[in-house]
Amino acid sequence: MPRSKGAAGASALSGAGRETESATASAFSLGNAARGAEGTEAEAASKLAPGLYLVATPIGNLADVTLRALDVLRRADAVLCEDTRVTAKLLARYGIAATTQPYHDHNAERVRPAILARLKAGAAVALVSDAGTPLVSDPGYKLVRAALAEGIAVTVVPGASAALTALLGSGLPPDRFLFAGFLPPKAAARQRTLDEIKDVATTLIFYESAPRLGESLADMAAILGPRPAAVARELTKLHEEVRRDNLAALAEHYSVAGPPKGELVVVVGPPMPATATDAELDRALGAALARKSLREAVDEVAAVTGARRRQVYARALALKGGR
Ligand code: SAM
Repeated sequence: MPRSKGAAGASALSGAGRETESATASAFSLGNAARGAEGTEAEAASKLAPGLYLVATPIGNLADVTLRALDVLRRADAVLCEDTRVTAKLLARYGIAATTQPYHDHNAERVRPAILARLKAGAAVALVSDAGTPLVSDPGYKLVRAALAEGIAVTVVPGASAALTALLGSGLPPDRFLFAGFLPPKAAARQRTLDEIKDVATTLIFYESAPRLGESLADMAAILGPRPAAVARELTKLHEEVRRDNLAALAEHYSVAGPPKGELVVVVGPPMPATATDAELDRALGAALARKSLREAVDEVAAVTGARRRQVYARALALKGGR
């Protein structure tokens, strides 16, 4: 996929997330050294306090794991994994010989009772997903609920998440945001969801798959209107790219370029503040209505002024009605 080709005004950053093998190779021994400041070898080898540990893992670059995450994974009695083969790579990288066990959407109901029994008996059990923070569009929520209901301690070991990583790099307002997870794959349900959140006055964050990116962006452009946005792809990995443009231009870019490779997050800026006054809208509408139908005039004035379509429509009706 042509990484830097795009509509005018788009910006793309590539290759910012390169992994450095030497940095990762030394990170776990660094973990032992770092603990030295607060504890002893004996303490390091001691058992973890009983309970469920929700452990964030990297979203691509294996160096983005915390020292505490490695320590918990090493000392847990068992590590629940979305895919044990994926977690095995992380564990191998840091020389951790953990007992892993699958915990994913397809076996969770069946294996949860045994996990809870083990936790109640005093085990320290870690839960990881394939990448990033467990429970965030990943399995684990029901296990946490069940553990809390049984009075089992739940500890979060924080770390990487694609949502926040994308938000930070998007250049869009980070102070208030709505994380909307994955949009429904079917067009009608996706459009309904976008319609429900279109007036939320915050930045929006969506996970999306590469094959569905084009249609999702087209729906976002149509329903959320002219907003700045970013497609953040392959974050922390070799081919990291953040493409920033307005929704319509991004939709156009991917309809021409085709689906990109890899994993991605879509970040959309908040609705434009409706800064135009009624008098300004009336002036713009007066000119537009002389040339166009009411609907076309409303669309034009909303696009030009950034005012909410609903507000422009109300003014247009008032003008037509002579108010
Ligand atoms: N729990 C994970 C987290 O905290 O980020 C997310 C898991 S969700 C099943 C996977 C989705 O996260 C992908 O489809 C993509 O939207 C996003 N994602 C994960 N890693 C990513 C990366 N390196 N770059 C961009 N998006 C990523």
